[in-house]
Amino acid sequence: MAQAAAVPTPLPVAIPLRDVAPWAVFAGVILLSLLYLVGMDQGATSLTSGGMLHEFVHDGRHLLGFPCH
Ligand SMILES: [Zn+2]
Repeated sequence: MAQAAAVPTPLPVAIPLRDVAPWAVFAGVILLSLLYLVGMDQGATSLTSGGMLHEFVHDGRHLLGFPCH
């Protein structure tokens, strides 16, 4: 009877919070900026003049359930 060879199980690598925190903050800023551009950039709070950005993200706004028109 043949025996199967033992397969070594990989161990997870611990990543210190100090190394992860700057990337988490960076990702949070990017995601909040995108959320603002898709959901809030309209009318008086618009960062750009005209409605080009609003029209560009219009389908995303409806998909995410933000009030639009
Ligand atoms: Zn709309």
